[in-house]
Amino acid sequence: SGVASVTFDVIVVGSGAGALLAAIRAADQGLKPLVIEKTSLIGGTSALSGGGIWIPCNHDQARAGVQDSLEDAFRYVRTCARGEASDDRVLAYVETARVMADYLRQIGVAYRCMPLYADYYPTLPGARPGGRTMDPVDFNAAKLGPQALEQVRPTNPGQLIFGRMNINAFDARTMLAKEPRANWVLAKIMLRYFVDYPWRLKSRRDRRLTGGQALMAGLFHAARQRNIPIWTDTSLQSLIVDGARVAGVVVRRGGADGREQREERLSARRAVILAAGGFERNQAMREQYLPQPTDQGWTATPPGANTGDAIQAGAAVGGALHLMGLTWGVPTLLVPKEEKYRPMFVERSMPGCMVVNARGERFLNESGPYPEFQQAMFANHAATGGAIPAWIVFDADFRAKYPIGPLMPSAAVPDAKVRKSWWDQVVWKGETLAELAGRIGVDAQGLAASAARMSEFARTGKDLDFDRGGNVFDRYYGDVNVHPNPNLAPIAKGPFYAMKLWPGDIGTKGGLLTDREARVLDSGGQVIPGLYCVGNNSASVMGPAYPGAGSTLGPAMTFAYRAIAEICGQP
Ligand code: FAD
Repeated sequence: SGVASVTFDVIVVGSGAGALLAAIRAADQGLKPLVIEKTSLIGGTSALSGGGIWIPCNHDQARAGVQDSLEDAFRYVRTCARGEASDDRVLAYVETARVMADYLRQIGVAYRCMPLYADYYPTLPGARPGGRTMDPVDFNAAKLGPQALEQVRPTNPGQLIFGRMNINAFDARTMLAKEPRANWVLAKIMLRYFVDYPWRLKSRRDRRLTGGQALMAGLFHAARQRNIPIWTDTSLQSLIVDGARVAGVVVRRGGADGREQREERLSARRAVILAAGGFERNQAMREQYLPQPTDQGWTATPPGANTGDAIQAGAAVGGALHLMGLTWGVPTLLVPKEEKYRPMFVERSMPGCMVVNARGERFLNESGPYPEFQQAMFANHAATGGAIPAWIVFDADFRAKYPIGPLMPSAAVPDAKVRKSWWDQVVWKGETLAELAGRIGVDAQGLAASAARMSEFARTGKDLDFDRGGNVFDRYYGDVNVHPNPNLAPIAKGPFYAMKLWPGDIGTKGGLLTDREARVLDSGGQVIPGLYCVGNNSASVMGPAYPGAGSTLGPAMTFAYRAIAEICGQP
């Protein structure tokens, strides 16, 4: 304890989606917030995400003709969570998510629901075949201005077309699934970008922000309108406790300009809200808590950012930890010269590819939800020793039609134009399957047998091994022109290609245990007064599962919203 130098009502640690939403809501409720961010950029992983939020019974469902109910949503999440999140919290989420989404709209961060994007486990009770995931409406960066835009963490190269143009989830799906409008959509995006030269003189970033960029630029804009101080290059070191209450933070500030960092004590009259992400960039914590093998390099989140500082600070004042062995899993791949691994969310679902282990055997449904994909890699690796890394293998037809990793379809960028440094680093090639097998060190007979079997499944439309394409979730990212199963095509036409996949993540899922108002609990289940926690800093309300796209950002912002209501005495 001790006297702090500067006082705020609420101090928010981190600057991702949950953090900024909390600060904005606090300001709207008449409180004086401060946001502190460890890096020089605002937005964390949230800024380079898809920006999707999973919101049952959202305000846009009526327009889209989607039927939903809170009872079903509760049942669904509860089933997914398998007893690893309290009913109380699940109910709080389901009830408040739509209120929060409506608030986002009021503060200028618009969303629309995706009527065809299914919950990830569409056969579980209470699931919906679409409409709960919402995608950010495109945000015009001119509202922020080019200078403020530079302060927002830029997106991944993987999220951009030709490394430049942003794309929203609707357009991405239209193009990947080869819907009839696909070419038109691409032409429109390119045209809009190229005619916008007045803006390009001011900024190299596309003015039309989508996904996590739209979300975080929108929130940053709302924060600026409210004059909320956001201190970058300021990292939480520890929490100040006064009696039983958390009353402030010790931070280290500065250093980006080469001057010495200094320690400061800041006091929080009402609350400290921890929203500083997970621990995926902390190798020691990964080794302590996560399944092995593990490597902080595999994550798709920004280097150096989320090292679990605020999980440790919360634990140091008695906060209980939960779900520490879990991540938001996704297969990732390394592209040389990029600062972090790229997640492979959807390309693996398109027809004409398969994923194999070192024996050349398939071991999962390539089109299934990405968290299951990552877990299957660990399970198969434990059994065979050859699934980390795994290989995604595809043929010339696939290569011609679909983008994968950093490769554009060969119809647009043929092999001869692929960057030289990518061969045998990102993508491997063989004129025959046997040649490819030799190059990547995979059993050739096994690979040939798997390809032949896949070609047979493509003919019948039934994947007898893993039921790929067997439900509406799988089929969303399939080719509408491929029959009888949009996720299955023969792997038969040379040359053949492969890419290396790692069991990566888009953040960790375990952290401080919280109650329905996002208050941090101690190991006895008692509230630690003055301390709140949201996002990947806290143990997920979804337990071990990933109910639908937007299951991390939706809860981060919803519990931020509830935390402020609680702080203001309006639970
Ligand atoms: P972050 O957004 O990472 O913010 C944490 C911030 O805290 C960082 O800026 C960090 O620098 C800062 N920080 C860390 N330590 C300190 C400290 N000591 N002091 C001060 N600040 C600190 N999820 C979805 O729900 N929907 C999607 O569509 C989606 N798409 C994704 C796409 C990609 C490519 C990726 C990589 C992820 C995606 N995710 C998605 C996952 C989602 O982005 C993350 O789970 C989410 O952003 C985590 O939010 P957060 O606020 O907990 O952490």
